[in-house]
Amino acid sequence: MVRIDGSQGEGGGQVLRTALALSLVTGTPFEMVNVRAGRAKPGLLRQHLTALKAAEAVGAAEVTGAELGSKQLSFHPRALTAGNYHFAVGSAGSATLVLQTVLPALLHAEGPSTLMLEGGTHNPAAPPFDFLEKTYLPLLNRMGPRVEVVLDRPGFYPAGGGKFRVNIQPAKLQPLHLMERGRVLRREAVAQVAAIPFDVARRELETVAGVLKLREDQQRPEELKRAFGPGNVLRVEVESEHVTEVFTGFGERGKRAELVGEEVAAEVKRYLDAEVPVGEHLCDQLLLLLALAKGGGFRTLALDAHAHTQRETMAHFLDVNFDVREVARDVCEVTVRG
Ligand code: AMP
Repeated sequence: MVRIDGSQGEGGGQVLRTALALSLVTGTPFEMVNVRAGRAKPGLLRQHLTALKAAEAVGAAEVTGAELGSKQLSFHPRALTAGNYHFAVGSAGSATLVLQTVLPALLHAEGPSTLMLEGGTHNPAAPPFDFLEKTYLPLLNRMGPRVEVVLDRPGFYPAGGGKFRVNIQPAKLQPLHLMERGRVLRREAVAQVAAIPFDVARRELETVAGVLKLREDQQRPEELKRAFGPGNVLRVEVESEHVTEVFTGFGERGKRAELVGEEVAAEVKRYLDAEVPVGEHLCDQLLLLLALAKGGGFRTLALDAHAHTQRETMAHFLDVNFDVREVARDVCEVTVRG
């Protein structure tokens, strides 16, 4: 039984989700104390409880501590089963993070799976649906499996109500090498509003376009009719020869639209200036996929706390070597060997 202190590093939900994912893949049971101790509201929130229950279902696991607010739990997987699953967060908590908890396991299952996920699809501090669709899954699919997602309805905090479907064709994960970004082929800023004045989208785009020098035809304001509002998300897509990155910011009550635009633009600028293929958020998510493939490498920005925490959590389950070299200012080269 592996014992994990959930307060390690970032001390957030990622420690739990990664532990669940790798416990399912390796069949190794674990106990966790201090679950999400590094967060303002520690313990299991609805999103984490749903992820735990999803992992329980996929792995026919024995679980203790599966309650809201729980700071201690144990997880003992019995049998990994492909199939048709429906997981609903029951709040606006991130449904994409629930997917990422069980996806590695379902990539290792005997047959294909289909999932229906409900909850938030566009949440701060989580991979937004567009990032999943355009950044994360195309890279995963390059490693062998075939995973497709369809958005039925976007879900924002606090109303939730988002819904998407996933098709998973498993295959053994092959190493991925992503050292070069290649030429930038397309940049586009999309500002979406649901039950929020359209002007907010315009102001966000104006700010982001000012910093990144985007033309009119590289800006798209959109009103989302199907989402339960209020909701507002700004994303910038940077499509390059070898990867597409998606950068996201969220409108909040009391936060100026211009500030949302400035923050996203700064993130994009940092990425473009560093000339790396892999941005900050993709980094920790890719580390897990490469560790499972037992090989590969990529260039990225200086590693953040999520990336370091990911390495620490993975070391409990996998015997994989990571070599991280800083090759220039804010440029790191990560190599993974199994
Ligand atoms: P945690 O904060 O521990 O719950 O982990 C959050 C996870 O969401 C990490 O894997 C982050 O890389 C990921 N994440 C947060 N914000 C974004 C974003 N804007 N785009 C993509 N992934 C994100």
